[in-house]
Amino acid sequence: MVQSRKVLERIQPYSPGKPIWEVQKELGLNQVIKMASNENPIGPSSKALEAITKNLSTINRYPDAAALKLKEALADRISVKVDQLIVTNGADELITLISETFLEAGDEIIVPSPSFSEYDFGAHIMGAAVVPAKLGQNFEYDIEEILKAVTDRTKIVYLCSPNNPTGTYLPKQLFQELLERLPREILVVFDGAYAHYASAENYTDGIEYILSGYPVLVLQTFSKIYGLAGVRVGYGAAREDIIQRVLKVKEPFNVNVLAQAAATAAIYDEAHVDFSKKVNEQGRSQLYKAFSEMNVRYVESMSNFVLIKIDGNAKSFYEKLLAKGIIVRYGAIWGLPDYIRVSIGTYEENAAFIQAMSTILNERIEAI
Ligand SMILES: *Cc1c(COP(=O)(O)O)cnc(C)c1O
Repeated sequence: MVQSRKVLERIQPYSPGKPIWEVQKELGLNQVIKMASNENPIGPSSKALEAITKNLSTINRYPDAAALKLKEALADRISVKVDQLIVTNGADELITLISETFLEAGDEIIVPSPSFSEYDFGAHIMGAAVVPAKLGQNFEYDIEEILKAVTDRTKIVYLCSPNNPTGTYLPKQLFQELLERLPREILVVFDGAYAHYASAENYTDGIEYILSGYPVLVLQTFSKIYGLAGVRVGYGAAREDIIQRVLKVKEPFNVNVLAQAAATAAIYDEAHVDFSKKVNEQGRSQLYKAFSEMNVRYVESMSNFVLIKIDGNAKSFYEKLLAKGIIVRYGAIWGLPDYIRVSIGTYEENAAFIQAMSTILNERIEAI
């Protein structure tokens, strides 16, 4: 046996939402609806598709290692400088790169819990420890819990806002207070994968705190509202000195030609972003209304998914939805065994989900 590194023993395999083809095959279903990975249900921007088509004949060439066109477009959009940006193969790659840049074995990261599992993954591959900081009773952020978790070994604090899987967010005043009270040697990674969906007036996407000099690294992705999960593009924005260090561990050609072209086009497709946001807001209302009618408790979401409390056996509820061809996420992976998380779909997908839920709930009542 070739021995692998000891730290790998701590790594749990990532558990993705089941793909549509797998459920079709396993259950012999034709019609399967995926509401499990927070993808954009209306599809990619047509401008991104055109850009991919236009660039197909150039794939014999390596991509631009600096992704300069995309960075220029981003700099234009979010008012940071090109040197304050890094483009990566999905935001997941960026989490790994941040970990490789800043974490020594024995260091600590603080992660509000429950949250996105990739932060833990990044720490574990480096031999660093994960220190969870509990979210509140209704999954709201509690900065005192985060501050209490700080030690001499803390290197990174992760803040996902809106948070996956809860949909709750960190209000701007609290974020600012947290930044003021944290030691300046700690990197704050602000994961804004769902920033476009957040409509609360006191929401911040974190960018303004980069400009005012805080050690904040804002992480974003093209996988969610931009509808490009399949081509893998994400990016980070932070002070130049932070970005330049992360760039040291990046492979030169990490983002492929088609992904760079698609993302650059998608940024400028405002109509697609606006429409996606609108479909999501309407879907959220559609689901909330149905949940209230069915007496189902849920966590109010600033994102494109909703965490739902299931009275009784949530795992069997998840399985019954699956048997009806609807893929959601069962909450046990986040330590939430009484919950499921549903990604907001199109009007028709939401309606099918509501219908399936209502059928399962009625069957349960009859069974009692
Ligand atoms: C989806 C997601 C990401 C980014 O995913 P990529 O597809 O790798 O860009 C990052 N953070 C959170 C919380 C997410 O849900």
